[in-house]
Order: sequence, then C-alpha cells, then structure tokens
Amino acid sequence: MIELKSPVEIEKMRTAGKIVAEILASLTEQVKPGVTTSYLNRQAEKMIVKLGCRSAFKNYRVGTVVFPAVLCASINEEVVHGIPAERAVCDGDLLKLDFGVEADGYYGDAAVTVAVGDVDEDSMRLLRVTKECLDAGIRKLTDSNRLGDVGEAVQAHAESAGYGVVKDFVGHGIGRALHEDPQVPNFGKTGRGRRIKTGMVLAVEPMINIGGPGVRITDDGWTAVTLDGGRSAHFEHTIAVTDNGPEVLTAL
Ligand code: MG
Repeated sequence: MIELKSPVEIEKMRTAGKIVAEILASLTEQVKPGVTTSYLNRQAEKMIVKLGCRSAFKNYRVGTVVFPAVLCASINEEVVHGIPAERAVCDGDLLKLDFGVEADGYYGDAAVTVAVGDVDEDSMRLLRVTKECLDAGIRKLTDSNRLGDVGEAVQAHAESAGYGVVKDFVGHGIGRALHEDPQVPNFGKTGRGRRIKTGMVLAVEPMINIGGPGVRITDDGWTAVTLDGGRSAHFEHTIAVTDNGPEVLTAL
C-alpha cells in the first residue's frame, strides 16, 4: 500500500531531507585523493550526532546481513552499497556516496557521485548523464503521471547516451520507513505502472553503467559491482509530489 503524506508529514520530511543534503554536501567537500571511505563515514557519524538525528543505514538488515556503517561508499565499478573501509580514494576515481537519516520519525535518502581529483572525460560524461537521468525522472513526478513515465524518462536518456541501466536496484517510496511502497524502477514504459499522486514521497535513484547493465554482489554480502568491470554512477533525491509539481526534499 502506498502511504500518502500529509502537509505536516512532508514538513517533517523537509527537515530530514535538509539534514541529508547538508551532510552529503559536507562529505563531498572533504573528498580528495588520499581520503579513506571510513574517514568519510566517521565524519558522517559525527554530523549525525551533532544534528540530533539517527542513521537510516547503520544496522539496516536484509535477511541475515547487517549494514555496518552510516554511509555507503562505492568506488568506480562498485555500483551501490559499498562498505566504508580503510581504503583511500585515488586521483581519477568516481566515488558514490549514498546517505540517509531518520529525524523525528521520518526518513530522507540521497546519493551523489563525486569526481576525485582529475577524472577522465568518459567518466565525467557518465557522471553528467546520470545526473541528467535523475533530473529527467524528477520532472515526471507530477500528480496523475505514472511510474512508467519516470522509468522511461530515465532509461531513454541513459540508453541514448549508450549506457546500461541497472535493473537489480530501484528507487522507492520513503516516509516513516526508509523503503516503502512503491518501487520506482529506472526503466519502464510511459503510461504504464502505478499512478503518481500528490502526497507521495519517492526516492528516485538511477544507477547507470558505462557498459552493460549487469551487476553482481561481492563476497561481503553488500557491495554491488558491474559484471563487466566498467564504471558506474549514481544520483538520488527524495522528492515529494505536490500540487505544484515535484519538490526535492534533499536539496540544500
Ligand atoms: Mg534509496
């Protein structure tokens, strides 16, 4: 069942969203060659404490596997759900930071791809197109559109650039839980899928590969990597559907 949020709930989600945006922006500023992903995770933990909210990701459980950090940090061919480690990012890397909090009972979730130092042109194009895919998806989040409109907008933009759209992970409803109904795929057909309504709050999160769309999970039980070893990019926002169109809650 898709829970529609009241204006009071959306106001709470604005607060959670702003916190996510603020922390992600701070982390992005701290990314440079030589920084470890566990350092970024510690910085995120400190800001969570300072801002009086709770991590959405730490101890998140899927079956028997438990996510051990507040931040997902995925490098290059890692697509999503990378576990922070004493591993430094290098000049030329693409670093994906995915981060979420719960504040006053409501969740916010967002992700960015950060270019570390000097990044090659092909990777910069992937980063730019993936960001455009997110924007194209967000533009479709208006009352009485359908989720297939969002999926097709994302997929068409990525595929016209020659990229692979990851199908194994999708966006989601968000609110009093991190993951709620409905699923929001980054692929689909215009006019198909659930109808979008004012009061829905959705996380749209295209994961786009420079090569094929296939991914696999590594032995740590979390990290998704591309099957062909090519690089991947990921952007995500939490968005409220309002009578005036989409409102991005995780923007500064
Ligand atoms: Mg998400």
